[in-house]
Amino acid sequence: MQNLINGKELSKILLDNLKVKIMNIKNNRLPKIVVVQVGDNPSSNKYIQHKIKSIENIGMLHDHLKLDGRTSQEELLKHIDFLNKDETVDGIIVQLPLPKHIDVFTINSRISPKKDADGFSPCTIGDVVLGNSIIYPATPLGIIKLLEWKNIKIAGANIVVIGKSNIVGKPLANMLLNKSATVTICHKQTKDVKKFAKESDILISAAGCANLVTKEFVHENMTIIDVGANFVNGKYCGDVDFESVKDIVKWITPVPGGVGPMTIACLLENVYNLYLQNCLK
Ligand code: NAD
Repeated sequence: MQNLINGKELSKILLDNLKVKIMNIKNNRLPKIVVVQVGDNPSSNKYIQHKIKSIENIGMLHDHLKLDGRTSQEELLKHIDFLNKDETVDGIIVQLPLPKHIDVFTINSRISPKKDADGFSPCTIGDVVLGNSIIYPATPLGIIKLLEWKNIKIAGANIVVIGKSNIVGKPLANMLLNKSATVTICHKQTKDVKKFAKESDILISAAGCANLVTKEFVHENMTIIDVGANFVNGKYCGDVDFESVKDIVKWITPVPGGVGPMTIACLLENVYNLYLQNCLK
């Protein structure tokens, strides 16, 4: 398929570059990431396994701090305080979802901006909105890298983002705005998503709703980025009815193999950039 934006291919290029950079570190400690998990959520276990494989492949150091599901918020905050002070740690990620008794905002706010590998802390998000951050939330960053890789023009483009979450939709919309796109955010309360979508040059769906984007949403000059990660009848799919739109649109990301691999690559780029800031200054 000539119009496929292959995230696996670009993420491999990014990870290979990182591997070389890490291999070339001489006379200094190596970058290190700590993945904090509370409980034993099967999807989280899978995502973490995936992340650790990529971390090991590029030669980055890592720890997986797996805490009991009954760990209190106070205890988790103490672990984060400890990691914030540990000078051998460059990036901390707290795997979501957290158990219901723990407030995500409180946890993200406690991670030092100097170690905020996911880019979810309010401080980092402020810098992201102002376009003045050294790291960016990994999924939005991966999406922008995919567009730029294929020379898809962002400045001046009409871009519709479906989804307004704090980790994808909101930071992504701000990052695209900083690159001079005209951005519309749609969400569950939007009256006619299809109408907005149809008028866009680039449609990015991060709703978590299988088959939301159908051929009625698209046109032949459109680029589609599918962020969705859904399981339907045991099958992994995105938000886009891929089969019905793939031959109509100009560019499209597959699921799997589109945005997903880019998220991991960009997360590890974040850790490397934090390392440069924390260690080599
Ligand atoms: P979320 O549930 O926090 O937010 C979903 C957003 O989509 C909400 O703002 C909601 O209003 C909107 N929405 C839901 N259904 C809709 C509909 N029918 N019409 C219009 N808007 C609708 O989700 P999130 O954390 O932003 O993640 C979104 C999706 O992206 C999920 O499937 C998630 O698994 C996936 N995801 C994938 C990656 C990746 O690397 N591939 C990374 C992050 C999230």
